Amino acid sequence: MRRTVVAANWKMNMTPSQAEEFINAIKTDINGADNEVFIIPPFIAIPKVISLLEDTDVKVGAQNLYFEEKGAFTGEISAEMLTDAGVEAVVIGHSERREYFSEDDEIINKKLKKAIEHGLTPILCCGESLETREEGKAAEWIERQITQDFDGIGREDALKCIIAYEPIWAIGTGKVATSDQAEEICAKIREKLTQLYDQEAADGIRILYGGSVNAGNCAELFAKDNIDGGLIGGAGLKPEFTDIVKTGSPN
Ligand code: PEP
Repeated sequence: MRRTVVAANWKMNMTPSQAEEFINAIKTDINGADNEVFIIPPFIAIPKVISLLEDTDVKVGAQNLYFEEKGAFTGEISAEMLTDAGVEAVVIGHSERREYFSEDDEIINKKLKKAIEHGLTPILCCGESLETREEGKAAEWIERQITQDFDGIGREDALKCIIAYEPIWAIGTGKVATSDQAEEICAKIREKLTQLYDQEAADGIRILYGGSVNAGNCAELFAKDNIDGGLIGGAGLKPEFTDIVKTGSPN
């Protein structure tokens, strides 16, 4: 039985004061859900959000980290800084990081290892472009990303990870993948994890779907056998997020 995850990636939205106002408005509704809930604010709003959610079961994540331990890396944030601040999870390999900040699978693999080393739950993103999908190569693309991102990561560490399948063409576009399209790729990811590890490990790893998820489409997506919740962008900034948190069938 995999517990459904609902995670709000705020991206570069919400000042600390806006975060305070929003969390105060939704806090009661997102606490105590059957689903495991993560709020993932920009770094600067993390301390405020952690203190506001202190008396709830909602966890706070970060959107990125650097793979080095510490040192002369101006502008970067280390895993130790995140855990010391009370952060429990970290998004790694989001398509926006891959595209705008040139993160490749080698960098993502190093970040994944660093997050695991520090006890952070990685939310590893993968996803294909529209071009790759139209060429009929989506599954092949995702399998390659998973293989490279998990390179050198052992079975027990892999079990600590959450994977988010996020087709790039569905992110922030309003074009949600159909539940069948999302399920097909999430099933392929589980197959790949079975090959890399074993069936039991693959069955224990949560795989989320992300890409224009909202309160209206989440129930159908979360009900699929291989979709264990959602990584939510735009709808995670709105009051409808509370409805997404309350939706879901543990599978
Ligand atoms: C995301 O950025 O992870 C995402 C899924 O965004 P949206 O829900 O806005 O498509």
